Amino acid sequence: MSPTQTQYDVAIIGAGVCGSALTYVLSQYTNIERIVLLEKCSDAAQVNSRVYNNSQTLHFGDIETNYTLQKAEKVNRAASLVKQYLLKYDAQQIIHSRYHKMVLAVGAEQVHTLQQRYHEFKTLFPALWPIDRAEIDMVEPNILKGRDPKIPVSALFTEEGYAVDYQKLARSFLDQVQQQQAQQQTQQDNEVGDRTVDMRFDTRVQKLEKVGDRYRIFTDQRDQTDQQVISAKTVVVAAGAYSLLFAKSLGYGHDYALLCVAGSFYRAQSALNGKVYTMQSKKLPFAAIHGDPEVHDPTITRFGPTAKVLPLLERYRLSTLGDYFKTAGLSLAAVLSFAAILLDFTVFSYICRNFLYDLPFIGKRLFIKEARRIVPSITLAQLEYAKGYGGLRPQIVNMKKRGLDMGEAKLLGDRIIFNITPSPGASTCLQTAEDDTERLITFLGGGYRFDKARFLADLGSPAVVVSS
Ligand SMILES: Cc1cc2nc3c(=O)[nH]c(=O)nc-3n(C[C@H](O)[C@H](O)[C@H](O)COP(=O)(O)OP(=O)(O)OC[C@H]3O[C@@H](n4cnc5c(N)ncnc54)[C@H](O)[C@@H]3O)c2cc1C
Repeated sequence: MSPTQTQYDVAIIGAGVCGSALTYVLSQYTNIERIVLLEKCSDAAQVNSRVYNNSQTLHFGDIETNYTLQKAEKVNRAASLVKQYLLKYDAQQIIHSRYHKMVLAVGAEQVHTLQQRYHEFKTLFPALWPIDRAEIDMVEPNILKGRDPKIPVSALFTEEGYAVDYQKLARSFLDQVQQQQAQQQTQQDNEVGDRTVDMRFDTRVQKLEKVGDRYRIFTDQRDQTDQQVISAKTVVVAAGAYSLLFAKSLGYGHDYALLCVAGSFYRAQSALNGKVYTMQSKKLPFAAIHGDPEVHDPTITRFGPTAKVLPLLERYRLSTLGDYFKTAGLSLAAVLSFAAILLDFTVFSYICRNFLYDLPFIGKRLFIKEARRIVPSITLAQLEYAKGYGGLRPQIVNMKKRGLDMGEAKLLGDRIIFNITPSPGASTCLQTAEDDTERLITFLGGGYRFDKARFLADLGSPAVVVSS
């Protein structure tokens, strides 16, 4: 047995949409020869990237009123990479569907705020335009049916809405890697030499250790060469909420804990034709409820996600309870940070209400008020709890600031990267992969190259190429 058989240049832990996107970018656009992807499930994207576990939205920042202009600029660039990938490789719309989308303002105050927002954002999003009551009625009649005609409404509208099956997107990335491997075997591709990309499913990483200039990765599986321990020069941990636990095990991320927010959904038949977002409440850190047609079935509208705080690292997996407490820590700093976040009256009452939404009988009766903000005439009989849907957003608690850091987080260590990916982590998967690829090339040193020009020529929209 050769000692190099379990030695890699890069090990990626987690084959969600982010780990899969990175495997794709490394194998297509770098000359890194030995890559391993380690995943505890039997296939890619079975946790938050699973099709039923998220809102299936490609977030650009145009209708997300919880984003600042600065955040929208970043997310727009990132989402454009995914959009270009879909346009290039998913012309048949197996992975995604196109729907129109809008953000709806109800009442004079919201209408005014949305108008101001339009002026601030219109240069960044030229395809977004304001529409009035009559135009709303034409595209989404159910928004106005049963609504008080005296209350002013307006919306920002665009045809550029994408619903994405991130589970299929992850699979597509890995299929491309496999195709490239197969081609390489037949063509003896000189540029990449003897590239190996091992994808190991049903392989749980149990422990990471740094020994000298390599990482030792302990798994629960023996491979064909009877090796349980894998050695890698560099590591990217793309394990969702588990990334923070791994970071802490190596002495990183001590200032962080996680507030894990489960999101459930309700469903209704043909309530909307496209995506309808509502205005964000400034007092709440969680995104407002929206209505979205299912990616593969436009006749089903999903309302959600709710925001239920749970002490778990993965939804519906009670076995992750112990790990949650290890991640959060029971330090005074952690307790004070959670108290500072949750004891705000608006946040606390919102969280309590969100707990109730999952309960049988009463949940639907409470949630319908949220759904009626979008479709006022929706009835209890039309609304159905989407059982088994919804993942868990690992929101980052910054224990130094005693508050939430919204969005994704990246912790950098010695030749190791940890990605923690609440929403919009799926929309930004290729951007995260691009950033990580650049870092990995630096970690690995001379002789390694990232063909960023080709990456952007393939996936960058013209605006992206210019701004890079
Ligand atoms: C309710 C909800 C709605 C959302 N809506 C949207 C949306 O509309 N748009 C959007 O962009 N984002 C959305 N998100 C966020 C999005 O789902 C995530 O950002 C994205 O799926 C994260 O991908 P990931 O690959 O980082 O993590 P995951 O998909 O969770 O993958 C992590 C992988 O790591 C594996 N893993 C963990 N531990 C180990 C281990 N020890 N060994 C081996 N493997 C391990 C897991 O099995 C899993 O496959 C939403 C999330 C939720 C919960």
